[in-house]
Amino acid sequence: MTKLMLVWDYDTPIARITATKPYNYVFEACLEEEANVNLILQSARELGAKYTFAVVGFGAEKSVAPFDVRHVVQKIAAEGHEVASHSWKHEWLPFLTPYQLEKTVERSKFILEDCIGDNYQVKGFVLPHDRPMSWYSKLAFSAGDRAVYPVFPGASIGGVAGYLQKHNYRWVRVNYRPLWQKLADWNGESQKLRFNRQFYSSGGFHFVPEHAMEFGQNTLDAVQWAVKHNKPLVIAGHPGAFSFRKENLDNFKRFVDVVGNHVNKKEIELTTISDYLNLQEHGR
Ligand SMILES: [Zn+2]
Repeated sequence: MTKLMLVWDYDTPIARITATKPYNYVFEACLEEEANVNLILQSARELGAKYTFAVVGFGAEKSVAPFDVRHVVQKIAAEGHEVASHSWKHEWLPFLTPYQLEKTVERSKFILEDCIGDNYQVKGFVLPHDRPMSWYSKLAFSAGDRAVYPVFPGASIGGVAGYLQKHNYRWVRVNYRPLWQKLADWNGESQKLRFNRQFYSSGGFHFVPEHAMEFGQNTLDAVQWAVKHNKPLVIAGHPGAFSFRKENLDNFKRFVDVVGNHVNKKEIELTTISDYLNLQEHGR
């Protein structure tokens, strides 16, 4: 059965200030993101799905509405979904000093676990902005990171992974292309190559590929490809994106219909990243 993993990048309202086009701040969009998380939770009940939510840590800090989303984080965990970290305030990791990099990794995990309680353990990390895309030891270089490793440890996936391992994370979602792959496929990575990106593990730590993003036709193609070849598939989505364009919510509804058919035929199971990795490690 194909294992489908939806990873939601839950940026929370603080990221509208610290990261994404801060001068386009729209208050209503902050409220809509939270409403969209509720729609997503509803879809999980319909599909019998478990999702992974990578939450910006500041949302789990005690503050004021709409920035304080502790009640949402608690609801996500209570419904059996995985909560991962999406950094503390959606920083551009390649620009951080070693101290800042360590603190965003450490503080986000601490505060999310504190918010959920019950000895919950945050195991996953999703890179804000999908950066860095460089991974020096894998000969993957992206000028778009705009900083150079090892002057900046956050400018290489390997550098970030070192801090994550130190703080007992188990996985990170990555998006990178080695030089040889870029050269072999200079005209842009083909869909099939991207759908077939592999999981990679080193010393018990896992690098999780991103196969598709949002819920347009490309993602539907990825689902059909994964079912046909019986491959695991990781899809990245953003609750905030549903409000950005109406088409995005329509696409998600279509996606739920398509996936629901596969679920009924027992061709797809929607699971969390950590449950999938446990299955790979222990065969349970
Ligand atoms: Zn994000």
